[in-house]
Amino acid sequence: MQGTMKAVRKVRPAPGFDLVETEIPQIKPDEVLLKVEATAICGSDLHFYEWDEFAQSKLKRLPITIGHEFAGEIVEVGARVKGYKVGDYVTADSHIVDPTEKLSLMGLQHIGNNMKIFGNEVDGSFAQYVAVPETSLWRLDRSIPSEIGAIMEPLGGATQAVLIEPVTGKSVVVFGDGPIGLFAVGVARAAGARKVYLIGATEPRLELGRLMKADVVYNVRQMGDALVQAILDDTDGIGADVVIECSGAPQAYEQAFKVVRKGGRVTLFGITPRPIEKFDFNYNVILRQITVRGVAGRHMWDTWIQMEGLLASGLLDPRPVITCDIPLDDFDMGFKQMQDKTCGKVILRPWAE
Ligand code: ZN
Repeated sequence: MQGTMKAVRKVRPAPGFDLVETEIPQIKPDEVLLKVEATAICGSDLHFYEWDEFAQSKLKRLPITIGHEFAGEIVEVGARVKGYKVGDYVTADSHIVDPTEKLSLMGLQHIGNNMKIFGNEVDGSFAQYVAVPETSLWRLDRSIPSEIGAIMEPLGGATQAVLIEPVTGKSVVVFGDGPIGLFAVGVARAAGARKVYLIGATEPRLELGRLMKADVVYNVRQMGDALVQAILDDTDGIGADVVIECSGAPQAYEQAFKVVRKGGRVTLFGITPRPIEKFDFNYNVILRQITVRGVAGRHMWDTWIQMEGLLASGLLDPRPVITCDIPLDDFDMGFKQMQDKTCGKVILRPWAE
C-alpha cells in the first residue's frame, strides 16, 4: 500500500517520542500489512520514552516506530503468505522469529538468537499500519474486542510466568502490581489457586489487584518485612507453595525467597534495574530445595493456546486492568499515567481523533 500514515516514533536519542507523518511500511513476501485498531503501552516502552540506560542499550536503530502489543485487521497480504487473507482479524506475538535456527527447533523460538522484537529492532505498532511476518500472527475471533487482542501479548507473559508449573490448589504470592503482576493474579485465580496474595506499592494498582480477585493485598510501603511474617503465619508457618516475582524490585527478590516454602517454586519475571550482587544460593535455593524458573516472554504457541482457553472459559477476565483508552495522538498523557503508576494498561487508538 502506498501513502503516508500517523506514527509515534523515537526520532533522536533523547527522552520522549514524536508524532509524525511517515511512509506506510512496504511488506515483504512473507508479511502482511495490518491496520492497527488498538495498541498498548508496555513497561519497556516507558524505558524508551524516558531514554534511560536500558533504553539506550536496547534501541540501536533510530528512527524507529515504537510498540509491540497490538490487534487489527489485515489489509494486504504478501505473495508467500499461506494462512491469512485480507480482512482477517489478528493479534501478534511481539517476537519476530527465525524458524530455521536450532533454538527454534527446540521450541525456544521466543528466545532465539536471531529473534527480533517489534518497536525494538523493527518498526512497531504505535502507527496506523504495521508490517507483520506470518510467523508472528495469531488469529482472533471478532468476539474478542481489539483492546483485549492488544493486551494478549503481556497477558501471555503472565500466563507463562504463573503456569510454567501447575498452581491448582496451591498458595500463590505475586510480587508487583504492574500490569503483568495484576494479570498474574487473574491467571492464578482462573487456574484454581487456593489463595492468591498480591504485594505492591501503589494504592490505585493494588485496588486493581482486588478487582482481579486477589484474596490478600499487601502494600510493601506500609508493611515492609512484616509481610513476610504475615504470609508465613497464614501458611501454617511453612510459606507459600508458589511465588511469582513480577516487580523487578531488589527487595522483592529478597522477600520472594523468604515467603516461599521449602520445596516450592519461584518464578522470576521482573527485570531488576541492575544485577543483584548479594544472593545466598546455599540457603535460598540449595538447602531449601527451591525450584527457580526464569520466564521471558511467552512460549509460541502453547502459552497462547492456554491463555485463549482461560479467556474462553470465562474464568479469566483481564478487563479491570485496562484503565485507559485514548487516541494515539494523546500518547504523552498515557506515558504520564505510566510514570505516575496510577493506571493499569493504557490502550492507544491510531484511528481515533
Ligand atoms: Zn510488552
